[in-house]
Amino acid sequence: MTTYVNVLLPLYLDKLLIYRVPDQWQGQVVEGGRVAVSVGKRKVYSAIVMSIKNIEEDFPDTRIKDIIEVIDLKPIVTVPQIRLWQWISDYYISTMGEVMKNFLPTALRISGELEDGITHYRHKESVISDVRLSTSDSLRDENIQTLSRSPKQKEAFLSLLKFGELKGENIEIWKSELLKHDAGSTALRELVKRGMLSQKEELRPRNYQVKEKIDISANLKVLTDIQKVASESVSSFLGEKKPVLLHGISGSGKTEIYLHQVKTAVDNGFQALILVPELAFSTQLSKRILSAFPSDVATYTSQDSALKRFSTYQKILNGEVKIIVGTRVAVGLPFDNLAIVVVDEEHDLSYKQSDKRPYFSARDCALVMQNIYGSSTLLVSATPSIESFYNVEMGKYAIVKIDKRYNEAPDPKIKIIDRRHIALKDKQVYGYRFDTRYFSKYMLTEIGKCMERGDQTLILHNRRGFASYMECSNCGYIPKCTQCNVSLTYHKQSMMLECHYCGERRKVLDLCPKCRANMVLHGIGSENVEEKLDKYFPLASIARLDGDAMRRKKDFADTLSAVEKGEKKLVVGTQIITKGFDFPKATLACVVNVDNILNFPNFRSEERTYQIMTQFAGRTSRNVAQGEMIIQTSQPENPLFLQIRNNDYLSMYRHEIEARTVFNYPPICKMIQITVKCVDSELLSSASQDIVTSLNSGVKMISCSLESPLIDKIRGFYIENITVKLLKIGFLPAKESMAKIIQQIVKKYKNKVIVSVNVDC
Ligand code: ADP
Ligand code: ZN
Repeated sequence: MTTYVNVLLPLYLDKLLIYRVPDQWQGQVVEGGRVAVSVGKRKVYSAIVMSIKNIEEDFPDTRIKDIIEVIDLKPIVTVPQIRLWQWISDYYISTMGEVMKNFLPTALRISGELEDGITHYRHKESVISDVRLSTSDSLRDENIQTLSRSPKQKEAFLSLLKFGELKGENIEIWKSELLKHDAGSTALRELVKRGMLSQKEELRPRNYQVKEKIDISANLKVLTDIQKVASESVSSFLGEKKPVLLHGISGSGKTEIYLHQVKTAVDNGFQALILVPELAFSTQLSKRILSAFPSDVATYTSQDSALKRFSTYQKILNGEVKIIVGTRVAVGLPFDNLAIVVVDEEHDLSYKQSDKRPYFSARDCALVMQNIYGSSTLLVSATPSIESFYNVEMGKYAIVKIDKRYNEAPDPKIKIIDRRHIALKDKQVYGYRFDTRYFSKYMLTEIGKCMERGDQTLILHNRRGFASYMECSNCGYIPKCTQCNVSLTYHKQSMMLECHYCGERRKVLDLCPKCRANMVLHGIGSENVEEKLDKYFPLASIARLDGDAMRRKKDFADTLSAVEKGEKKLVVGTQIITKGFDFPKATLACVVNVDNILNFPNFRSEERTYQIMTQFAGRTSRNVAQGEMIIQTSQPENPLFLQIRNNDYLSMYRHEIEARTVFNYPPICKMIQITVKCVDSELLSSASQDIVTSLNSGVKMISCSLESPLIDKIRGFYIENITVKLLKIGFLPAKESMAKIIQQIVKKYKNKVIVSVNVDC
């Protein structure tokens, strides 16, 4: 009889590969554990065993290779975890290999060259050598009688009986485990010598631990009456297995409420997952959760070191931690008795992976996990996504609202300023002519007043750099990136022109390389806003929090701590200042130019503007005093601003749903974006056209349109987008045919085109 295994490899493969288990590894392979296998002539990978088959006759197929070795003696994935991976692979049109690569920590999927030797592939942390102790076959009653003469041996022996597990006729335990239970090693040695125990050296997974009930010592606040009512209705909906949208204004205590829900789950012996947006980690939120549950929380983000991710993964697997706080990648962890998934700030776009496959949405996974794990789903937001609110309206989710702040602070006052009436000023800066508008008189006056009060002002400008771009004052030449079809951003501090898409950098130009005329700066970035403010308020200390500043980690941490202590009175930043951080002394929030966000060409831009503005205004309500927000725009007549001013989510929602119904956008339909890339622009258009033609004949769609994106060349690749809209029902069959069509096209173009499919973009 021969044993074969079907294994999953971290490769772009659509199927499992089959290997033979040679005699030396017989009986050691487990489903869900890893084995080392070779692929091709020289590559070795650790692969997960998905199934084991014993077959009477040897396969005649000699191409089937032997596995190299067994890595794990216990599964490193759980059954529901694999079901979720499979769903992600099916729904988001990605291979299982890609999904595995995305979710399994690097330390658990080591690969390398064959000649490097195989021991290399066993992660030294995942198995260690230990001694398996077992009651001896020749154990007799007389032996046990004699134990009373040696209390130490007696205690050791009784511990083995108590903590060991029954294997056949005997009771077994790992020696290292037994040593933890009042068994001395001398006593154990004696027992072996006397033939009462037998011992055998074996490999065992590290961190192997007896699952014990963990004592959850949560430091939670006592809920107010309003919060208690909300929390009880959350519990009762969750009890009916209905997903709940907890919709409450910022500062109303949503976090306190979900922490109570998490505690209930963990008290009952279950696991809980709290999903947070990407940036939330540098913030108080994670500190707050950690201080609420000091001993049983682990954090998990893709920013963590490989070792940290590996160790957290193991801890979950071994049941050592019950609460995981993580970013989107945490949905793929090896849970086995998950009771609740909380999605904090559920509207946040960072829940959708957009930079690499699989393009999954962690929020939507949380809902799917409900079917897989039987867990309940709690979505939390002050400004829910249109999708989630639509699901409330459709009766799929329950909603629980809170309209009162814990500290009873009133809503911030919101003032809209027409940028078109701001006078042109400061044309000449640093030798370059400048053509842009900055701050209204009103904004400057209010900043001044805020400083006099001793409070903090937050200034949002969501563009990095100093100026958006440079242009020749004579011939109109604009320096562009050589790899991307986009103008370079002017960074003053570094005196560099930088591409924000590929990172290409070039020295700043003084004169036009074509006609030798002067260069002019257009548009402003956060670096420039900081400098301007420094001119207006020379005595204030200013902090800048943006992507550039964040890259210098140490400095950034210092700046942040100065900001949190209230030492920095003016805080300039890109979108990162609208979320996550707590600014205890902020009472004024200023938006230099909201049009940058509002005019972004995407069907969600109005929704996003509403969310960002509301979130930003919320930063000023940590104080009891009324905060203020000032927004500068060139389109004050847009009804969106009235909705923002009145904190009128419902009107914003109705307005959006109406527009999305007319123009057919999600959540009314399903939308899939197919991105086609190629270094050759002609090949690109013919491939995209082929895809459109095949889709039109092979898939039932509402529409399918081909367009060039705003930036149609990035890193040397030309890009075209195909937007497919489908009816919400009957989506899955469409998916199958779609994947097939795309595979055919990629084959036809001999892999010269790269096609990626983003479902629910
Ligand atoms: P949200 O998540 O809705 O923005 P939070 O849960 O962060 O609201 O609460 C806002 C602030 O009020 C926090 O500093 C929190 O500690 C405090 N807070 C909320 N509820 C309570 C409570 N019941 N007891 C004590 N402090 C509370
Ligand atoms: Zn570039």
